[in-house]
Amino acid sequence: MTEDKKTSAQSFTFKAETKQLLNILIHSLYKDKEVFLRELLSNASDALNRVHFEMLTNQNVLDADVELNIRITADKDERMLTIQDTGIGMTKDEIIENLGTIAQSGARNFIEATKDAEEDLAQVIGQFGVGFYSVFMAAEWVRVTSRSYKPRAKAVSWYATGEDDFEISPAEMNERGTKIEIKLKKDAEEFAEDYRLNTIIKKHSDYIGFPIYIGDSEEQANAQSSLWRTARNEITDEQYNDFYRQMTMEFEEPLYRIHSVTDAPVQLFALLYIPSKAERGMFSARKEDGLKLYSRNILIDEYTKDLLPEYLRFVQGVVDSEDLPLNVSRETVQSSGLMPRLKKIVTGQVMRELEKMAKKDVEKYISFWEEFGVFLKQGIASEPMATEKVQPLLRFKTNTNPEEWSSLDDYVERMQEEQKEIYYIVGDDPKSVLLSPHLDYFQSQGTEVLLLTNPMDSFMLMGLTKYKEYELKSVAQADVDTTEASEKESEAEKIPEDEFATLLELFKETLGERVEDVRTSNRLSQSVARLIVADDNFNPELQRVYRYLGKDYEDPKKTLELNPSHSILKSLLAENIEADLQKEIIEQIYDNTLLVEGLHPDPSSMASRIQNLMEMVLDK
Ligand code: ADP
Ligand code: MG
Repeated sequence: MTEDKKTSAQSFTFKAETKQLLNILIHSLYKDKEVFLRELLSNASDALNRVHFEMLTNQNVLDADVELNIRITADKDERMLTIQDTGIGMTKDEIIENLGTIAQSGARNFIEATKDAEEDLAQVIGQFGVGFYSVFMAAEWVRVTSRSYKPRAKAVSWYATGEDDFEISPAEMNERGTKIEIKLKKDAEEFAEDYRLNTIIKKHSDYIGFPIYIGDSEEQANAQSSLWRTARNEITDEQYNDFYRQMTMEFEEPLYRIHSVTDAPVQLFALLYIPSKAERGMFSARKEDGLKLYSRNILIDEYTKDLLPEYLRFVQGVVDSEDLPLNVSRETVQSSGLMPRLKKIVTGQVMRELEKMAKKDVEKYISFWEEFGVFLKQGIASEPMATEKVQPLLRFKTNTNPEEWSSLDDYVERMQEEQKEIYYIVGDDPKSVLLSPHLDYFQSQGTEVLLLTNPMDSFMLMGLTKYKEYELKSVAQADVDTTEASEKESEAEKIPEDEFATLLELFKETLGERVEDVRTSNRLSQSVARLIVADDNFNPELQRVYRYLGKDYEDPKKTLELNPSHSILKSLLAENIEADLQKEIIEQIYDNTLLVEGLHPDPSSMASRIQNLMEMVLDK
């Protein structure tokens, strides 16, 4: 740091990573230089929001009456561009820290990202938290002059070419805010043209919440409207989508939007969007979940998480209420009794709209469900109170309608005459679950079964035990009346009882302690065997949940049930089968049941047995 006596300018060194960043910005040939303007306007808007907010509680703000705005002036001949805001301003310490000496992890990340990026990363520099420096794509030099809102603070100026150090000196500035003067590079002189500035503002900064003026004009260059306060019939689809894009920086258009104005019981404007993808884009401007909360047009909180339940956290947008107390701080907003009421209203609106979409635009709803269904399932798991509201929104694939998404109502409507329960099967993937022996009986009866193959399903089932008057029942555990089914089978097809008893003994001997019991089943038709837990109090979903959570628990011992009509079992008793082969087949039958339950500890261990079996069979 050196001090020049005459001008009392001090010079400071940029942090190493900032220096590197500047070097890249100055020397790379960026196509979309114009984004620097968006970044500077976004900073001005932040500064205006902050002073607006400060004035809610602080009487002692410099220039409290001055209009909150941004003014841009350009001088083509001089290649000068000036952007001035009446925002919160910066003190000397703040300007030194904010524009150069603060350690910037964002700068480092940006440099890293540019190394293997295909596209022009400067476009999204703001997302790295170092947007200000983008000005050096277009500037020969930059001077920032600022006067803080604190009445006693002195004006200060910051000057840099971006090539080495920056200079700080005292400045003359009477009004609150920040002025950024830019000497444009030759190849950036277009930014001194008013019409060019106008287009850029329309494209990138139309929804900045404060007026932007160009030159001496009294006419705003940006729409500035709080779109959420504008009448629906005055807004085009394009405007709605532009607003979303400028807020989130997502490339894809939103899937759905909700724009509502409520007068009672509280005054509320809400403009909400459901994104088309659950995952935020890599360069999304939204760093967290949560809605933007405004009170009378003042931004109170950028990410308000208590306006919607967890399970709707994918919703983006703005909520604005007239009823928030004016002397609020962010903390008191959170604790004011109004928030739960706002949450109830906003949640109700979203849920109603989802129901509407589900009825009126099935295709859209399905694409919603495929992205966000898992959130709703989580809602049922974690918020029992929500179950009733969420139930109608659930969609399932089933054994009889494996290609379509069915609601619980669809299911109930198709239930068989005598059916009193809703059946489901839990498994790891939609294909293998259809092969489960537990499904045998239901398949043979043409009974519909919900296929639950998402890990979240097990959690959901803890909260979803009943729909309307119908209990949900796992097919593995359902007590079904099989008398009719077994009568249908002619007794002749079954293995004679005494032979079957021998068979049971053989299985017991071979499997020993590994199974609780071996017994006959009247529930199987295609499958040889199945594993069940014979204890009525046993909850397989809970076991699954424990397994997913990696908790230590002991799987209860299972009972092996055999299909008394299955041809494999019949042949197993034939005289010419050697004891060795019998044993190997029994082992393999048991392994198969473990496999379909997703319980096999080491499936690859079966390979050698299968090879063995093949050899034995071919030897004959
Ligand atoms: P970000 O906006 O993501 O914080 P920037 O590089 O754009 O990162 O800006 C750095 C910081 O400089 C801002 O956080 C803010 O503190 C300060 N700053 C920039 N422009 C202004 C302005 N017009 N008024 C007040 N402070 C500003
Ligand atoms: Mg910024």
